[in-house]
Amino acid sequence: MYLEMFNLKGRTAVVTGGGQGIGFACAQALGEAGAKVVVAELLADRVEKAVAELKALGVDAYGAELDVTDSKAVADLAAKVAADHGGASILVNNAGIAFSDVKAEDTSDEHWAKHFRVNVDGVFYCCREFGKLMLAAGKGSVVNIGSMSGFIVNKPQPQSFYNASKAAVHHLTKSLACEWGARGVRVNSVAPTYIETPLTLFGAQNQEMLKTWLDMTPMGRMGQPHEIASTVLFLASDASSLLTGSIIAADGGYTCW
Ligand code: NDP
Repeated sequence: MYLEMFNLKGRTAVVTGGGQGIGFACAQALGEAGAKVVVAELLADRVEKAVAELKALGVDAYGAELDVTDSKAVADLAAKVAADHGGASILVNNAGIAFSDVKAEDTSDEHWAKHFRVNVDGVFYCCREFGKLMLAAGKGSVVNIGSMSGFIVNKPQPQSFYNASKAAVHHLTKSLACEWGARGVRVNSVAPTYIETPLTLFGAQNQEMLKTWLDMTPMGRMGQPHEIASTVLFLASDASSLLTGSIIAADGGYTCW
């Protein structure tokens, strides 16, 4: 009974920014559990490469070039997924950016806006458009990739724009969970610690910064993409049927100190 709750056969999942890092691991996890997976990613060649890799792993994978900040493109993709696959009952809002280590007083309008465009507007557009499909079907699970930065302020790198954007993702998650909870659509978030992906290279390659990161983490290490993907799989599946509006910290204990 319990293992069956993780079975995603017959479901379609859309993963934004699924071409690398955490998103790719999520696509693999959901695909291994039986879902059809649509990798929606900014760059065409990365889409192609990810889909080929997923197929080689036995995943029923499809690709779509998508910029999540383009609300029309998001609506068009939702319409295409509805036409091609009969809808999507899983959405992983993973696409996000973090051009960190910029002091608040030096943050330009463009830098601030860019982070909110991708990390907040993009998440909302995808929730709205794929949420419509889920509400019409009376079922669905949305998993937003937030961050421990939505709870705490990272040290030593200044990144007010990123922290604020991820706090917004967490509260959007709770707001949509309340609006859609009685209509069969669950909305949850995962709040990761530092995960080894291209996004954290700037710190992982800086010995002093890396030492601070690890010293502040009870488990004393960075995480791996698959450790977030397994949490996403739980939230996407029926194994988490009573969870909505939850922000799960997958953070090696970082937010305990
Ligand atoms: P990566 O940069 O490795 O992957 C993110 C992917 O999203 C990239 O392929 C990126 O493309 C794509 N992307 C960026 N902008 C858009 C857009 N506008 N539309 C569609 N796709 C886009 O990052 P991670 O895998 O590390 O991060 C994934 C998520 O996890 C993000 O939301 C991040 O904030 C969050 N997170 C990551 C942590 C970490 O330590 N790695 C910690 C906490 C949260 P491109 O490279 O071309 O920009």
